[in-house]
Amino acid sequence: MIKAIKGTKDLLPDDVKNWKYLEHNVRNIFRDFNYKEIRTPIFEETLLFERSIGEATDIVGKEMYTFTDRGGTSLTLKPEMTASVVRAFIEHSLGNLQSLNKLFYISPMFRQERPQAGRLRQFHQFGAEALGSASPFLDAEMIQIAFHILKKLGLNDLTVKINSLGVPASRELYKEKLKSFLSDKKELLSEDSRKRFDTNILRIFDSKVDADQHLLKGAPILLEHIDDESRNDFDIVMKALAKAGIPFELDPKLVRGLDYYTKTTFEIVSGKVGSQSALCGGGRYDLLVEELGGKPTPGVGFAAGIERILLACENEKSFTLPDDFLDLFIVKLDKELSSVIFDTASYFRKEGFTVDFDYLDRSVKAQMREANKCNAKFVLFIGGDEHKSGYCNLKKMSNGDQLQVPVAQMDQILQALNTPDLLQNDRSLY
Ligand code: AMP
Repeated sequence: MIKAIKGTKDLLPDDVKNWKYLEHNVRNIFRDFNYKEIRTPIFEETLLFERSIGEATDIVGKEMYTFTDRGGTSLTLKPEMTASVVRAFIEHSLGNLQSLNKLFYISPMFRQERPQAGRLRQFHQFGAEALGSASPFLDAEMIQIAFHILKKLGLNDLTVKINSLGVPASRELYKEKLKSFLSDKKELLSEDSRKRFDTNILRIFDSKVDADQHLLKGAPILLEHIDDESRNDFDIVMKALAKAGIPFELDPKLVRGLDYYTKTTFEIVSGKVGSQSALCGGGRYDLLVEELGGKPTPGVGFAAGIERILLACENEKSFTLPDDFLDLFIVKLDKELSSVIFDTASYFRKEGFTVDFDYLDRSVKAQMREANKCNAKFVLFIGGDEHKSGYCNLKKMSNGDQLQVPVAQMDQILQALNTPDLLQNDRSLY
């Protein structure tokens, strides 16, 4: 039997319900903050990710799904969205149309990681990129949006971690300090960290190896070595968050993996999803647009993992959705009435109701079981002697009330279907 690829997941109807609820809230909250949705292709030229994310990162170094197409071009399934959004921003000169572009997305991403709970090879992110302003209030806005969405989904066990990486010049000076601090301990570091020592020394802070963390004790702290402007901006971010009532922690080890970050970085972690605890992460990247060939344009963004968030929601039992329902199930009492029932269903659907009926020529009892399974609010019986004398029967499932209606006056049924208890379920949720 052919199965789904390791690290990918089918979303069955019960899963999709939760996804749509999440997506609905994501879209609403981005709308509140005046963000516009952007959609970019699933694959890009490999060079785009190599140049933006950085050759020394895990993503580019070992996780990308890269292939050569029949024309000989190296393509990569997108492992993250910032590079694609920035490419689109430059390609369509979005900066000329609007001085600040606030964009959001919901999209699949691809990374060849070792699959485990909360870590997949095709996963999905929602996120945002705001291009055109260096204001630290925009950094605070990003954190606020991400926090808002997670709270809206009912999550409570959340920690917002923030840090500032400063500008590249101050970071380079810091890296030298870290290098000299670690130089006589280099041989004791794990193999990965020894590699990072030469390629991307800040990432040693991300090491999961206890011995590495032990060796880092007493290391100089990046936040104490950043430039004045970054420090000042960071203070503004912290004050804005405090005023907005968003609890946060300083995490001087939060360096994030990618090359393009400057100044503020942040992550929101959950205490309810095991070792893969980061639900979202982001930060400022003031030099990326220029590096990819655009006019100098400051930017800030974040990305959040949908599978991981829904796992946290499940573990926290953070929301429950109302059962699906059907407005009307039509029960066919005579097999030969299929055509009448087909037309009747079309009529009510046109009027805006959700309608279904039996296609399997099942017994009346089995049809009623199906109506219950669908959580039908009303059942309409068509057939038998009643139909011959021009009537059908409508049953309200909540209390068993029945109404006999002339087939020629379906508008009476419309009235019944429009009773208030039908409107209890908020369809706008989906
Ligand atoms: P990153 O782009 O690595 O900063 O990731 C942002 C968020 O995407 C993380 O906090 C996770 O929630 C999610 N994420 C990243 N990689 C994966 C993966 N392989 N599987 C599932 N979710 C992921």
